[in-house]
Formats: sequence, structure tokens, C-alpha cells
Amino acid sequence: MTETLLKLRQAGEAVLRTPARPLTTPEIRSPEIQRLIAAMRDTLRDAPGVGLAAPQVGFGLQLAIIEDRAEYQQAIPAAQLAERGRVPVPFQVVINPVLSVVDPTPQVFFEGCLSVSGFTALVPRAAKVRVEALDENGEPRAVEAEGWLARILQHETDHLLGRLYVDAMLPRSFMTSANHARHWKDRPVCEVCAALGLPLPAN
Ligand code: ZN
Repeated sequence: MTETLLKLRQAGEAVLRTPARPLTTPEIRSPEIQRLIAAMRDTLRDAPGVGLAAPQVGFGLQLAIIEDRAEYQQAIPAAQLAERGRVPVPFQVVINPVLSVVDPTPQVFFEGCLSVSGFTALVPRAAKVRVEALDENGEPRAVEAEGWLARILQHETDHLLGRLYVDAMLPRSFMTSANHARHWKDRPVCEVCAALGLPLPAN
């Protein structure tokens, strides 16, 4: 099968700031949307990333995909994965999601976005969420998640509401990905917060 790579839209494009519209079940099952899902999957794996929302590839539709492959986690120390509650997540499609917070305790970690390319920042996210959505067949599905998947779900749902992580980040922690890798990547978040003049997080 041919791989289709879509253009990743960057901050500053109106589609990223416009609430997306829901999809009907016939639309979800249409060849056009099925092709879009396949192309988004190719684009996400090529990037690579762990989540992609339709507005990021120019479509104002309430559709996002998530996949956190074991191979992405190989280079990350086990303690860091454990602290973030990051485990492999199989490919999944989230359509017309409604997110509710189950545990609002803020978890503060660095987060990036394929539409804010080259930057990262600390973003507080709720510890546990529940998402009700439709899958790629238009069937209802509910996910209750904590850890990294809870963060990804909040990040992707935000995209569908016209929000970017920069709206929720701790602004003093905004930095280039290069400087993050150079100076901060392996340091505990509490140490990073102290060095950047931020209050100490709960996690
Ligand atoms: Zn994003």
C-alpha cells in the first residue's frame, strides 16, 4: 500500500485555532474519511509522534489518532517512563470525543506538538480522564486513562477545540527542543521548575 504523507500545519494557521466539527456515522464510514485516517496514520508514524488531530493536517473535523509504539520508548530510561505512566498504546481512532476529568490533580511534564515544531514546554494535565468517542467504524467507545495516555487524550481533544498546548503551558518553561535535549531532558521536573523559577509541581 502506498504511503500518504500529509502536510503538518504549524501554529499560525487558522485551522489550528478553529473548533472542529463532529462527523456523522455515514461520514466516518465513507472512503474519504477512511483514507484520511490511513493517511494520518502514515503521517504520524513518519513524524514520528504519538498523536495527531485532523486540524493538524488541515481538516476541521473532530477526528484524532493515537499510537505510542514500544520502539519510541526504547531510548527513554525506565524510571522516566514509570514516572510519566508511559506504556505502549496501540493505534486508535478517536472521533467526536467528549472528555471529562476524573482526577484533576495536575501532573507536570514536558510536552511537544507536531504543530509547534522545534519547541517544548512543561504542561500541567489532569491525572485521570474519561473520553467517550466513536471509533473508525462509528461504534461508541469509552476510555478511562491515566499517565501518558491521559495527557495525549487531553492534548488531542484540545486540538479539536482549537487549542494548543501553549495555551496551557507554564510559559517560563517554553524552550527549544534542542535546548531541552541539551540541558533538561534527564533532570527531575522539580529540579527544572526550581531552576526556571516555577512553583514546584505536585507530581
Ligand atoms: Zn499537538
